Formats: sequence, C-alpha cells, structure tokens
Amino acid sequence: MKEDIGYTVRRNQMVDQQIAARGVSDPAVLDAMRRVPRHLFVPESLKDDAYDDCPLPIGYGATISQPYIVGLMTALIEPKPGDRVLEVGAGSGYQAAILGLIGCRVTAIERIPELAHLAQTNLKQAGVEGVTIMVGDGTALSGSEGPFNAIITTAAAPDVPPSLVALLAEGGRMVLPVGDRDMQVLTCIHKTGTKLTVSHHGAVRFVPLIGAQGWSPV
Ligand code: SAM
Repeated sequence: MKEDIGYTVRRNQMVDQQIAARGVSDPAVLDAMRRVPRHLFVPESLKDDAYDDCPLPIGYGATISQPYIVGLMTALIEPKPGDRVLEVGAGSGYQAAILGLIGCRVTAIERIPELAHLAQTNLKQAGVEGVTIMVGDGTALSGSEGPFNAIITTAAAPDVPPSLVALLAEGGRMVLPVGDRDMQVLTCIHKTGTKLTVSHHGAVRFVPLIGAQGWSPV
C-alpha cells in the first residue's frame, strides 16, 4: 500500500534534522530509518506525532524511544547484514524493524505478552521480515540462545547483566542504558577474547529493565 507523502517527507526531515545532524553517520542506519514507517509503530491517536523529536507512550508503561536515541544505539552496535542481533525490550517492534531492514537476523524479546503481540502485528503491517519475537525475560536467556554478534537492550539496567555478556560472540558489540531507575548512561561494550572495552555515550532515560538480572517489579 502506498503511504501518504506527508509521512515520507516528515520521516526524511526526522533523519536529516534529528539524527544525521546530531552526528549519526552510518549510511545503513540512516537508510533504514528513512524506510521504516514509524507511524505504524505508535498508537493510532499519536500518528501525527510519530516523527517528532521525542519518545511516545505505547501502553503498559512502555515507550517507543526518541528517534535520535534509536539511531545512536543502532549505530553503536555497528550492525551488518547477516549479523545475529538480540534486542531486549521489543516494545512496539520499531527498533527491531530498523535492524531487520539493515539485513540482520533479529531476535527481539519482550516481557509483556501484549506488547510482544503488538510488535509482531506492527512488523507484519510494515512488511518487515527477518525478526523473531519472543515473550520472556531477556536477562534470563540460556547460553544456547546465543551467540549474538550484537545485543541492544532498550530498557534501563542497574548493571551490565552478565547473562547478556555471556551471549555475545567474539567481536560482539552491546549497547544498553546503565544507571538508576530515573537516569542512565548509554553504555557500549566491545568483546574481544576475554577483554571487554567499555565506552559511554551520554545521559538517557529509559523505562526499567525488569528481570532476573535487572530491577524487581515495583
Ligand atoms: N525498543 C522498543 C521499541 O522500539 O518500541 C521500545 C522499548 S521500551 C523503551 C522498553 C521495553 O522493555 C518495554 O516494552 C518493557 O516491557 C521491556 N522490558 C523490560 N524489562 C524486560 C526484560 N527483562 N526482558 C524483556 N523485555 C523487557
């Protein structure tokens, strides 16, 4: 189905003015963000706000992240076609769709079954393939699920979950917000042999990662 030209124009403005202008330069990331119809991943009542420079509520206390943060986190894991990528916190399915369009083989896990269902529906409506949605706690996956070339966690962890580090392949990259429940630092980890190289990429605010190696539900 052909989309309203207004959405195409606003999506290109979003990429140019909010993402590329702030320093995200990976052409594959920018191209995927120009192609994924973000307005199909937000509630009907918020479609007109889909390309604004902010996160939006998607129900169940969760949000679809600010476009710039999606672009930054995606670029930090340096995704390549064919990479096995794990996303913890599928939410609306938007982040998984970006990775799917880059050509990654994506497994996205979501702890709230209704949101996992929403992600699946949104991905189908957007015509994105190559994404598997699972329901469960992404911090409690067994080693047999891995290894992954990259892991992106889109919920705030109190510490880097060892269970996720264990799922990273040699040369793997991981990005996640780490901090307290109110404010976190975007943290990136590169795994080389037994060595983990950690870098930090600014303050962010995400909903909590709830699980065995996250926060307890309140
Ligand atoms: N990336 C999503 C998108 O593109 O719409 C937005 C993610 S939202 C900011 C964070 C999500 O993480 C919420 O849907 C929440 O239910 C989920 N979540 C929190 N803890 C989790 C866990 N341990 N395992 C899986 N999902 C979790």
